[in-house]
Amino acid sequence: MSDELAGTAARDPSDGLAVLESAASTAETFGIPLAVLAELTHRCPLQCPYCSNPVELDRGSTELTTAEWKKVLSELAEIGVLQVHFSGGEPTARKDLVELVQHASDVGLYTNLITSAVLLTRDRLSSLADAGLCHVQISFQGSEAAPADRVAGFKDAHRKKLEVAKWTRELELPLTVNAVMHRQNLQQLPDIIQMAVDLDADRLEVANVQYYGWALKNRAALMPTFAQLEETTRLVEEARERLKGVLTIDYVIPDYYALRPKKCMGGWGRQFFNISPQGKILPCHAAESITGLEFESVRSNHSIAWIWQNSAAFNRYRGTGWMPEPCRSCEFKEVDFGGCRCQAFALTGDAGNTDPACTLSPVHQQIFKQAEEESAAGVTRFLYRNFAGGTLEPTDDGA
Ligand code: SF4
Ligand code: SF4
Repeated sequence: MSDELAGTAARDPSDGLAVLESAASTAETFGIPLAVLAELTHRCPLQCPYCSNPVELDRGSTELTTAEWKKVLSELAEIGVLQVHFSGGEPTARKDLVELVQHASDVGLYTNLITSAVLLTRDRLSSLADAGLCHVQISFQGSEAAPADRVAGFKDAHRKKLEVAKWTRELELPLTVNAVMHRQNLQQLPDIIQMAVDLDADRLEVANVQYYGWALKNRAALMPTFAQLEETTRLVEEARERLKGVLTIDYVIPDYYALRPKKCMGGWGRQFFNISPQGKILPCHAAESITGLEFESVRSNHSIAWIWQNSAAFNRYRGTGWMPEPCRSCEFKEVDFGGCRCQAFALTGDAGNTDPACTLSPVHQQIFKQAEEESAAGVTRFLYRNFAGGTLEPTDDGA
């Protein structure tokens, strides 16, 4: 699945404030995000070693029920949210997906399905389209079947994805190809770009892995070299120029190699929230990796708008007041909001520290050097994502 959200909407989200004003919505008062990620489940047949789900996955038995999700979707529409991105895990693992998409459409939400595609049949995709699904985003592990299926930890996944992408366009649904890139598949990028063109996708996301959760556990097997990253950037720029009007290409670099960190989720509690399978409202999909923060649930007595505006977890790192030095005195503090809190926690043990991806962080040099060494060390074996806390890829001798 992707860290990026598709940018299209039935009502133009770039004119969000005008939409909210005309709807006299409470969202304007609360600054409610226009798009929300609904993680319907953490169940997934694939086992990607970079999965952005938390290492502690929510069990199926704790997931929100159909009735609870419908209530959530109605509440989102009432408070002014315009788009819902159904994600996971694998959202098609939910038997009630068509019903949920239908309900989201009925209450006026634009719907996007972020899927690995392997569980979809043509009939089910057609039912989703009939229920009002507006957009499909399919994640690919590469352009060649054998290495892509190895990354996914699932036989025949790549062929199935190509088939579902074809059905998507036959059903006249817009398609985004999401390609998660790392050291072991970056050499396939030219073919991945051509694959997206051949599949008649509107958009390609070239999303380099971001290193927290499962990806941090697999960093040595995934981290690209600096030379690889330079070549990737060159290829993306060349393809963007060549494919103007044919394919839009979004590009996310691993922020270990950036000078400054990314404005993670647009800043903590500023532009984004997601809802976990068991109903927790989170500032980002990895936020539960930060220990010591209590996230409120849609199962509590509070409304979603109240949780967004008032909950302690959302206010803990909102704005700039929480910042330590060097962020506090930095001219970029309202540009990147100090980077990613989850990454700061994962790499320094304190979510209130400057993101170590920033060159001004006191630990940046040490972490960057370690990542560079890992990228050159030649480790290839994956720790696959699963509910058991991960399984090491078997070696040739079966170990
Ligand atoms: S295992 Fe792969 S396909 Fe499944 S949710 Fe994680 S990233 Fe997406
Ligand atoms: S010091 Fe903080 S605010 Fe300044 S660039 Fe680095 S992370 Fe951003």
